[in-house]
Amino acid sequence: MKVELENAGGRVFHATSVSEGMGMARCVVLYRQRPIIAERTIEPGEVEGELERFSRALIQTAEQLQEIAQRVKEVLGSDGASIFESHQFVLEDQVFLDEVSRMIQENHLPADLAAQKVSHKYIRSFESIPDEYFRQRVADIKDVTTRLVDNLTGWSQHDSFSQLSEPSILVATDLTPSQTVQMNRQMIAGIVTEQGGVTSHVGILARSLKIPAVAGMQRATEIFRTGQELLVDGYRGIVILSPTQEDTSHYTRQMEQERELEHLLELDAAKPVVTLDGRKITLTANLSQPAEAEHALAAGANGVGLFRTEFFFFNRGTLPTEEEQYEEYLRVATCMGDRPVVIRTLDLGGDKKTSILEFPPEENPFLGYRAIRYCLQNTGIFKTQLRALLRASASARNIKIMYPMISGIEEFAEAQAILQECKTELEKEGKPYNTKIEVGVMIEIPSAVLCAGELARKSDFFSIGTNDLIQYTLAVDRMNPIINYLYQPTHPAIIRLISSTVEGARHGNEYGGIPVGVCGEMAGEIELAPLLIGLGVDELSISVPNMMKVRRVIQRVYFSDCHRLACQALQMGDSARIMKLSSDFVRAAAPELFVDRLSRL
Ligand code: PEP
Ligand code: MG
Repeated sequence: MKVELENAGGRVFHATSVSEGMGMARCVVLYRQRPIIAERTIEPGEVEGELERFSRALIQTAEQLQEIAQRVKEVLGSDGASIFESHQFVLEDQVFLDEVSRMIQENHLPADLAAQKVSHKYIRSFESIPDEYFRQRVADIKDVTTRLVDNLTGWSQHDSFSQLSEPSILVATDLTPSQTVQMNRQMIAGIVTEQGGVTSHVGILARSLKIPAVAGMQRATEIFRTGQELLVDGYRGIVILSPTQEDTSHYTRQMEQERELEHLLELDAAKPVVTLDGRKITLTANLSQPAEAEHALAAGANGVGLFRTEFFFFNRGTLPTEEEQYEEYLRVATCMGDRPVVIRTLDLGGDKKTSILEFPPEENPFLGYRAIRYCLQNTGIFKTQLRALLRASASARNIKIMYPMISGIEEFAEAQAILQECKTELEKEGKPYNTKIEVGVMIEIPSAVLCAGELARKSDFFSIGTNDLIQYTLAVDRMNPIINYLYQPTHPAIIRLISSTVEGARHGNEYGGIPVGVCGEMAGEIELAPLLIGLGVDELSISVPNMMKVRRVIQRVYFSDCHRLACQALQMGDSARIMKLSSDFVRAAAPELFVDRLSRL
């Protein structure tokens, strides 16, 4: 949806919303206070001392990283902590260490200047390589070398994070993972960054810590000054500088309404997710990392509809082993009790690249070497994951497997053959697995919709990945802000494709049909949930923060009305009308969910 907001006298700034909520406080602009290291040389007699200072700073930096890794482990589990374990590698890089020592010994530079020069050289050479793999390495190198140089100069950025005495809005170029986890949640009212996006570290962590955050605000650190009052609206992706009395009272009212709403929603959480005329809907959670399973449970999720497993492959130096994956899958599945847990096999490629696997440069990465295509060409990686999943299913019988980006039955059959190989191997090794494990298909390519009948006969369930289905159907790059307005979930083509998928699913399970879920972001939009249900979708899998509101919508509508709504939408020819029809329907059923968010600006 396109949101039009005027920049009221240069006070309202647009950005990308990465974490919902609103925060108003004075801001702290980071990276401004770091001292400039002057060019100077040392006396030959000072060399020994500087080398020693360098060694001490290395130890101090390593200790800080270990401490942070421990804190992350407590918040996000061991996969989050692996980010910092991989940072340790930079401190052990012999070429880096030797070059700094040489600059101290031969060029007679002080340790801080030498470390900074070598770091910059490293960063420049990595930055010049136009490849996601290297860009991710740059972020790691910057994070750890900045910390090292700060330890050498004695400048402490920690004051900005952990010693804040009042809740503040953090404004930064970008926040590294190590900075984000040092934040004292109670003291952070919001985050504004120039870089990053929904899938950046800061986005992931802010959402899991429930901190309102926006990213991609250009020149934020130049525009704002520490001490200025900011209002961050993480719902709409805007920042207001020096909010007026009117803004403030509007914000206060809105926060009060949000609190009241939250209380109302908590009361609904224990009630079953059924429509007023008794249609049961499965409301499951989308997880990007294992630690989110607990949040999903707390929000009353009926299970996990999409567990994205790419997270295991990010920010680390080595591939995750079968054992490691087995333990994580088992942990999540056990945490969810007997509720179903759909684990999606690796969906790397496209925008999701990792530093540990090589991806060739491609003209059109989203149409290229990604997801199941990558797995079918890299069967070693695929089999490691499938074996881990199968083994975990022996005791966690709630585990289901789902393949991403299936385009038709050949690909599905190929993946199934590899799964069968893994089963045979495990049998030979005497390792148990759930022989009745269900296998589903993500429907996110239009060709899969057109072949839904055939796919339904071979698989156990469908989950519609609307994020990609919209991208591929409308030929709109889901990451490109310039054509964002064309990315329309209520485009008639999308509504019809969802309906066709449901129709195709009826041909499955010996004609009794197979269940259909939606796990793209569309499922979490409260204005669209009744439309999806009316189209015949059985399950909505959504990110945890949206769960309570979607549940309330379902509990307040009649399925018969949803069905009528869907039939009407299927007759319509334009997105805006379908959106309005659906939105009006939900607003009438649950008006309390629509807090008027700063719409008068
Ligand atoms: C989708 O495409 O809708 C989906 C859920 O998968 P991802 O966003 O991970 O591509
Ligand atoms: Mg997808």
